[in-house]
Amino acid sequence: MVSRAAAEAMDAADPLARLRRRFGLADDLVYLDGNSLGAPPVTVASALAALQDEWARDLIGGWDGGWWEAPVTVGEKIAPLLGAAPGQVVVTDSTSVNFYKLLVGALRLRPDRSAIATVEGNFPTDRYLIEEVARQWGVRVDERPAAEAASIGSDTAVLTLTHVDYRSGAMHDLPGLTSAAHDVGALVLWDLSHSVGAMPLSLDAAGVDLAVGCSYKYLNGGPGAPAWCYVAHRHQGAIESPLPGWLSHAEPFAMADRFRPSAGMRRLLTGTPPMLSLRALDAALDVFAVVTMASLRHKSLALGDLFIALADDRLTGLGFAVITPRPHGDRGSQVSLCRHDAADLLPRLAARGVIADHRPPDVLRFGLAPLYVRFVDVWDAVERLATLGEPLVGAADSGVGPETSPGISPEISPEISPEMSTGISSDRP
Ligand SMILES: *Cc1c(COP(=O)(O)O)cnc(C)c1O
Repeated sequence: MVSRAAAEAMDAADPLARLRRRFGLADDLVYLDGNSLGAPPVTVASALAALQDEWARDLIGGWDGGWWEAPVTVGEKIAPLLGAAPGQVVVTDSTSVNFYKLLVGALRLRPDRSAIATVEGNFPTDRYLIEEVARQWGVRVDERPAAEAASIGSDTAVLTLTHVDYRSGAMHDLPGLTSAAHDVGALVLWDLSHSVGAMPLSLDAAGVDLAVGCSYKYLNGGPGAPAWCYVAHRHQGAIESPLPGWLSHAEPFAMADRFRPSAGMRRLLTGTPPMLSLRALDAALDVFAVVTMASLRHKSLALGDLFIALADDRLTGLGFAVITPRPHGDRGSQVSLCRHDAADLLPRLAARGVIADHRPPDVLRFGLAPLYVRFVDVWDAVERLATLGEPLVGAADSGVGPETSPGISPEISPEISPEMSTGISSDRP
């Protein structure tokens, strides 16, 4: 069993430990929900204040002072995290909307094909949009078990997958499935919402056609930060968005009667960019200039290894099951546990200073954002969960940790005040 002192020693030896200071996280908070909403970079406030100054000073002239280009310039800051050469990423709209645009774009690039392929258990927004696009375009949905993703048929227009499963943290083989799709002439559309910012990605090298992802998870862009989309250079001349707007026009200010798509990635835009949230995201991305994605992945896996080892020691005997795959190549940056009372445990864990989340019916997710999660956070989370998860043996002998008043059983203590449980709902992205 790894001791807390050993976890502290891991933090002391961690070259990334100093980065936690860049985020507004209380020292005693164990924040393991960065896979759902990243922590706030402290520089966002000054970045927004600078934007307010520009707005006050330049007024509408601000659009000529860099705002107009922001979807592209911020996209270029994300591109290296994706393994993408310049000119293939823009920041715009939400992940859901971008997914719609690229899914329809893919069907139009393969007009002779009749199926959209995906796997069971894909993220709800992707599934709903796949169904809807299939209905609009008269194609079939080929939803198959994950193990059969590589054997899609040659009627497939596009294979679309979420790289890291939001529930279990299981990770697909991105290069392997991309080439399997290409082998039958299909395109791939990857949803990288739970990957970007937590691991190196090689979209260009893998030959990926299309990708989308969130900016408010491991990229820390802030609640509702605009999402990004990637279109490989070779498709940019031909891809057609189903949501053309004046910003995607080749000459927006010509105010032409007929649509003519812009060259390059601007054709994936629709309307006016959300400058406040773009500027916050821009500031949040600065941290990636001082780390390598390889070092982030290394730490993320070490945090996961520690979590799984401690869970084996302390939690599996209490009826918890680790549902995240153990091999490094098969998991993302979260560890998920199953137990029947997961929904009840979550607010009680929050009352003990550990923020995680719950997915129905019985999954507890622990996001291990390597920029700010500490090894002691993992240790404390498992220990507090073990204390909560133990069968109740009576108020006097409950093994209550120091975070609860002495002598009060966690079962009867008033730890779940309404304020504490507010916002710990299970329906966040
Ligand atoms: C979080 C998440 C989304 C969220 O999409 P929004 O449009 O930002 O709400 C989409 N896809 C996946 C796989 C996600 O994990």
